[in-house]
Amino acid sequence: MLDIANILKEESLSREDLIALLSVKRKEDRDLVFQKAASVRCNNVGNEIYLRGLIEYSNICEKNCFYCGIRAGNKQVERYCLDEDDVICSARHAFENDYGSIVIQSGERTDQDFINKIDSLVRKIKIISEHKLGITLSCGDQSKETYHRWFESGAHRYLLRFETSDPDLYYKIHPNNKKHFLLNRLTSLQYLKETGYQVGSGMMIGLPGQNIENLIDDLLMLKVLNVDMVGMGPYIEHKDTPLFKEKSQLLTKNERLGLSLLTIAVLRILIPDINIAAATALDSLSDDGRLQAIRAGANVLMPNITPLKYRENYFLYENKPYLTEADALIRKINESGSLNGYHIKLGEWGDSKHFAKRVKGFGLD
Ligand code: SF4
Repeated sequence: MLDIANILKEESLSREDLIALLSVKRKEDRDLVFQKAASVRCNNVGNEIYLRGLIEYSNICEKNCFYCGIRAGNKQVERYCLDEDDVICSARHAFENDYGSIVIQSGERTDQDFINKIDSLVRKIKIISEHKLGITLSCGDQSKETYHRWFESGAHRYLLRFETSDPDLYYKIHPNNKKHFLLNRLTSLQYLKETGYQVGSGMMIGLPGQNIENLIDDLLMLKVLNVDMVGMGPYIEHKDTPLFKEKSQLLTKNERLGLSLLTIAVLRILIPDINIAAATALDSLSDDGRLQAIRAGANVLMPNITPLKYRENYFLYENKPYLTEADALIRKINESGSLNGYHIKLGEWGDSKHFAKRVKGFGLD
């Protein structure tokens, strides 16, 4: 039997070590992994939880990812794009309630109108928040020029997930055409770094046909990409998508939750100083999924501040907890006696410590 305690004492983890950690089944072994992740987290990024108020700007998307409820091919969705007042109002809410940061997330569009609108929103949010609100964008693959333009306007973090690093699995869940090439994603991540963003990526956990080896490759890909932050979460099926037909192959919800939490813990141990988001999708598997992720090593929460009337149309997956009010979530955490001393840090951007070291060139490219 593998000695998990001994593996966790090692200075650097081999691929075999990572496989052993991500495969633990016994409760005692899982607890050891979570305890180690908690200690690595406290020593490297502290006990704080940083907020990013999430604004789901538009569910209009040019792409057709096979797992996604707002894919272009899904005719069941009522499409929307927030008007400027709605976005500014949400950003003002985040500013006045001291969130410190927001994320503007959108279905992917590359037309000039979209590029101009995001640019203008970023500039206006900077002005209304006296340049105090940090802005992360999650608006898909764009040209190098667009990344640069949005960065100059004031966005300073960008999240672009590769979803899976395994080419076969990637083309099982995406159409195999130029618009969806995996290489485009990886090139975009490089452009984002060159532009100066704090760069985030991540993958889905529990995809049909995915195995532990795939997940280890994804974790090692995050290390090789030298990302500053990670947003990864469980795959949740959506009935209006092509991948839904593989539903019978899925792990149970409990198993997907358990694997997601373990993956967060192993990632924290593997790359100690990055920011890790507790994905909203975790709350689809358990009422306190995100809080469990915080205990497992995540240090960022993204409460949804999109105006309520639009949220039911941003269903990337089913059972999304779209009615959870951001402020209620924050209250729940602050009042929770079981978060091991983790607390929300208001009014700060909560930038990635890994990024700070990367740009100072402390042995990181
Ligand atoms: S995952 Fe993103 S890019 Fe793919 S269809 Fe959904 S919103 Fe569009």
